[in-house]
Amino acid sequence: MAPLYDLIIRQAKLPDGTLADIAVQNGRIAVVGDVPATARREINLAGRYYASAGWIDSHVHCYPSSPIYHDEPDKVGIACGVTTVVDAGSTGADAVDDFYQFASRAKTRVYALLNIARTGIVTQDELADMARIDKDLAGAAIARHRGFVIGIKARISSSVVGANGVAPLQRAKEIQRENGNLPLMVHIGNNPPDLGRIVDLLGAGDIVTHCFNGKPNRILTPAGELRASVRKALRRGVRLDVGHGTASFSFEVARLAIAQGIYPYTISSDIYCRNRIDGPVHSLAAVMAKFFTLGMTLAQVIDCVTLHAADALRLSQKGRLIPGCDADITLFDVRTAPCVFIDAEGNSVRGEQQLIPLAAVVAGVCLLTDEGKTSHVFDL
Ligand SMILES: [Zn+2]
Repeated sequence: MAPLYDLIIRQAKLPDGTLADIAVQNGRIAVVGDVPATARREINLAGRYYASAGWIDSHVHCYPSSPIYHDEPDKVGIACGVTTVVDAGSTGADAVDDFYQFASRAKTRVYALLNIARTGIVTQDELADMARIDKDLAGAAIARHRGFVIGIKARISSSVVGANGVAPLQRAKEIQRENGNLPLMVHIGNNPPDLGRIVDLLGAGDIVTHCFNGKPNRILTPAGELRASVRKALRRGVRLDVGHGTASFSFEVARLAIAQGIYPYTISSDIYCRNRIDGPVHSLAAVMAKFFTLGMTLAQVIDCVTLHAADALRLSQKGRLIPGCDADITLFDVRTAPCVFIDAEGNSVRGEQQLIPLAAVVAGVCLLTDEGKTSHVFDL
């Protein structure tokens, strides 16, 4: 009998602990459940290894020509078990065409949040000169790259905006409104401007990245309570994104926030070559595993990089293991062994569980991760 499907992943352990077969046909999920049929390729996880919807890293830097924060999509994507990466503002209207050409050659699915500065991040202070924000050029770039540019990015911290305060953010909101209310991701860091002034301008669906940074302009008051302005913003539907990065994740801030019921909506890495190789980021999986030490369950952590990320970035065909969705799947192991995690402040926390991505399926095509290549769990 001729094989019915392109790929069947058998006996996959899902993040909630249940077992299922996953059948894939023509780049889409066909069945999740019992699959009494054959496929051209079968991978048996034997109830031992996990499968989830493909991981989406909502904040990376993967434009190789960027002078400060650069990397390659497949190094922060497939090699790390991440099927979709979203570059957060490396390019603006000037270089997005070049980035698109490059990104379309990657095996990892790549999307971009367009920097509201036409230059993107070529210097650290891209929003210190308001003339760099050209609404017409931004609008034209968004229109040219619908399906690739899925939102906009504004970095609103003192080293980026100089003396401009929240004026660049007001422009970002105008660009958002004038271009179909695309998702807006706002980076926070040192003041000025004060965090309260930033979040007061944000509304439902807007994303605050670097949400658990440990800088003085953090989401917590000096007493460790959630700032009233942030609480109001969350009630309006503003979403928190981790964006770990080199200097933007504090275990202490995350711990105090989670103790008050403030969870990240999305977990992202803010990875680029230096913090990938030298730490403290290393990979999205390493960032995700840090949240086990903060009391989050596997299912909660996986939701942050699948369902929630797809929802926040309006990638409606992704983030779910249901028939008809894109056949993007991450195969991984949860390894129990003592380990030490280090945050962006140099503080360490002991953990007991690590996430080991083994393979990534993108539109039905299965590829091994770096760990998958060395561990030989699957032979593809
Ligand atoms: Zn970033």
